[in-house]
Amino acid sequence: MSSPYPRLLAPLDLGFTTLRNRVLMGSMHSGLEERGDWARVATYYAERAKGGVALIVTGGMAPSKEGGVFPGAAGLYTPQDIANHRLVTEAVHSHGGKIAMQILHAGRYAYGKDCVSASAIKSPISPFVPRELDEEGIEKQIQDFVTAALRAQEAGYDGVEVMGSEGYFLNQFLCLHVNKRTDRWGGSYENRMRLPVEVVRRVRAAVGPNFIIIYRISLLDLVPNGQTFDEVVQLAKAIEAAGATILNTGIGWHEARVPTIATSVPRAGFAWVTKKLMGHVGIPLITSNRINNPETAESVLAEGCADMVSMARPFLADPDFVAKAAAGRADTIAPCIGCNQACLDHTFSGKLSSCLVNPRACHETELTYEPAAQRKTVAVVGAGPAGMMAALVADQRGHQVTLFEKDAVIGGQLNMARVIPGKEEFHGLVDWFATMLRDSGVELRLNTAADAAALAGFDEVIVATGVTPRDPGIPGQEGPNVLGYIDVLRGKAPVGARVAVVGAGGIGFDVAEYVTHSGVSPTLDLDTWKREWGVGDPSEVPGGLLEPESPPVARQVTLLQRKAEKPGKRLGKTTGWIHRASLQARGVQMLGGVTYDAITPEGIVLGGEGGPRLLEVDTVILCAGQVSNRGLADALAASGARVHVIGGAHEAGELDAKRAIDQAARLAAAL
Ligand code: NAP
Ligand code: SF4
Repeated sequence: MSSPYPRLLAPLDLGFTTLRNRVLMGSMHSGLEERGDWARVATYYAERAKGGVALIVTGGMAPSKEGGVFPGAAGLYTPQDIANHRLVTEAVHSHGGKIAMQILHAGRYAYGKDCVSASAIKSPISPFVPRELDEEGIEKQIQDFVTAALRAQEAGYDGVEVMGSEGYFLNQFLCLHVNKRTDRWGGSYENRMRLPVEVVRRVRAAVGPNFIIIYRISLLDLVPNGQTFDEVVQLAKAIEAAGATILNTGIGWHEARVPTIATSVPRAGFAWVTKKLMGHVGIPLITSNRINNPETAESVLAEGCADMVSMARPFLADPDFVAKAAAGRADTIAPCIGCNQACLDHTFSGKLSSCLVNPRACHETELTYEPAAQRKTVAVVGAGPAGMMAALVADQRGHQVTLFEKDAVIGGQLNMARVIPGKEEFHGLVDWFATMLRDSGVELRLNTAADAAALAGFDEVIVATGVTPRDPGIPGQEGPNVLGYIDVLRGKAPVGARVAVVGAGGIGFDVAEYVTHSGVSPTLDLDTWKREWGVGDPSEVPGGLLEPESPPVARQVTLLQRKAEKPGKRLGKTTGWIHRASLQARGVQMLGGVTYDAITPEGIVLGGEGGPRLLEVDTVILCAGQVSNRGLADALAASGARVHVIGGAHEAGELDAKRAIDQAARLAAAL
């Protein structure tokens, strides 16, 4: 049978070496390297190599102390560092994979007072003003890149990736946004591109011809005074001439106010940018950003957008991505839903990365699903994320599992998320759970509310009965103009033109998004999405940055909370700003510090900050958080039964699927 992914799985001949397919695992900072447990780092990468990826790029390694993203960022400084990295390269090679080390100089993004850049201009996302480098300082940085590359070679890497995008050090020299110099490293584009070209030229001279050099080129800066496309082409040609083997795509500086990888970005939403560069250089081009399944990757290649595809987060979600695609079982690939909740949100909070969908990511050595010593009968109640994950892991380990679900469908709260514009990826997650349950030995009993009698006789009972909406107890809330979020999201209740949303947590934000949208979700229509976020063609506007256009707005919404803080402050670390910006673009008013005195036919009477007043609305939607659904758990406990309670049924406060799935996997791994 011919493969459905002939282009994706085709080898790529680089002359002195061949990649086994067109899939690159892009660089992701995991936090593992800084922990010093190198066997764990090696296992993490080895699982991905075993899963078939052709070329892995490591998380960024600092070439110098001043260039590290944060104090103590990992780099190759000592013979011991080189020996540690050799564990990684050997593990990857033992599975037929190749691995390149990313050299990441953060420039003014380095979180420390010793940071350096082209000019002494602070970035909006850092408190530190960088030191402007003099001629000698620039030479030191170049030499640091060369030294890092040589040490990577000594550690057994197949190559390096020189990080030249995302607003990091080399990118800072390229753009007038930061580079205000008047010497030979500033002014004309020829001068501004001197540093990245010199770095690649000197690295190539040092490492010799048979070593992969990937240069991550910023194709779309998405900041004011970004590069024009003619400049990008000029740079790409010069980098090729300087000795790069491959060009990888970088999109957007970290300080850009345009989402580039969040789940609401359309799939492969920036492949068109890489395509613009195709034909301008002779070396292979890699495209990236929001490609999370083999179908999308294959079509990107079929459309001539690139020679190769980079995916980073999808390899956290499923290390066997390529092997499953090659085996014709793409439906079993655990999908990266682009949520950032366990990966980038962790990274930017100084925590170890993992994955909402795959709690084993970066925990490969301590969370394992070994065959159970004794086969047990296991009942799981509730087919939400926690219950489904517990059932699957218990089944995988050899237990006999029955999964009870009172509704006619699986998914639980995931079925709320999947209808929100911008959260379409949740469909794929529910589909994946359905496939995995179908392929497993789990007996799924839908439309079955298990009671204590039905659960008697099981060796283990896992209660994952989830949550119910909290009753905020507002006088007048029983009126016909008041709705719960579940009725709204299930499309069962008409919503008026003027809306007040009570509660500005994750669900309040989601509901505000849901009721203000009309027509096709921008996530499913790239042109609409680009207009909304102001993404233009870099041939027409430098850096691809346009004025955003106001989207059509279906309803006038006011989002309310009692806390006297900025609504949305507690949303995801790397995604909260996107939710806030999206609602602001839709004219949503956000009020904190209010009290809810009453709901009347005219609207909602508010107190607190701003004094008593009537907010005139047609509909009030209650999104006041959740409480645990513990009825069954409490009844079982009262009868003396031994039960495990997980997910929202265990703890509803700020519940999210990440915690629920992780808790479920760990419990089932230990049964
Ligand atoms: P939540 O995040 O805990 O927010 C509950 C909201 O209700 C808060 O704004 C809270 O603010 C308000 N509230 C609490 N008690 C209230 C009361 N007695 N009367 C009136 N208002 C009250 O809960 P959620 O919005 O239901 O979301 C549940 C969880 O699902 C989230 O925490 C999140 O983990 C997950 N989720 C995440 C996302 C995401 O974007 N990542 C999206 C959807 C859901 P005040 O107390 O200040 O009024
Ligand atoms: Fe993807 Fe979310 Fe997992 Fe990160 S945590 S890899 S974004 S599914």
